Amino acid sequence: MVDSYRHKGLRKKLVDTISEKGIKDKRILDAIGKIPRHYFMDSGFVEFAYRDQAFPIGAGQTISQPYTVAFQTELLEVKKHDKILEVGTGSGYQCAVLLELGAKVYTIERQRELYLKSRALLNDMAYKPYFFYGDGYLGQPSYAPFDGILITAGAPDIPRDLLKQLKIGGRMVVPVGGSAGQVMTLVERINEEEFKETEHGYFAFVPMLKGRQ
Ligand code: SAH
Repeated sequence: MVDSYRHKGLRKKLVDTISEKGIKDKRILDAIGKIPRHYFMDSGFVEFAYRDQAFPIGAGQTISQPYTVAFQTELLEVKKHDKILEVGTGSGYQCAVLLELGAKVYTIERQRELYLKSRALLNDMAYKPYFFYGDGYLGQPSYAPFDGILITAGAPDIPRDLLKQLKIGGRMVVPVGGSAGQVMTLVERINEEEFKETEHGYFAFVPMLKGRQ
């Protein structure tokens, strides 16, 4: 794996693009400026790695668009040492962004091929999240509660069971909707029973599916 000056230059332009699109959190822009996104894609696609686009990563899945990664991360308001549950490890790129912000990350993937691939890659890059191969709809009750839950696949509805794994004051960011597109939804836990939902625009994700493959 080589991270050349050319890659670094392309990455700087990508950061400018995302910043122009409205991402303000400097820590997130720095993380995107630092992480070689081309490592998360098959070699041969370097040209595409620094465009602000989603891209296929195998098993019918995609690495999210960098702007979308930044947007979801910004909504989550991650603080250093926060415990974050990520549903949909995919390529591992979003996970790396969360780790750069100093979070402790628990990440779940239902596609075995991607779980193995991203685990090997992140280990090589010296990133140390907790990896799980399983169904994100179940969360990780033994490690709950979490300061934040980030769902990186389109959920037909807010996954209610996961809300129980959110700390009071915690935030869940979830794209809600079907194959025609999803509404980015922020759910904040007010107290034991109350949750506040707000909507933050339209996005397009691969679906959040039940079970594992
Ligand atoms: N965060 C990823 C985005 C990958 S796309 C990245 O940065 O690359 C969404 C991922 O969610 C896919 O890999 C898909 O297999 C996974 N996924 C879908 N439903 C899931 C579920 N119920 N549990 C865990 N992972 C799921």
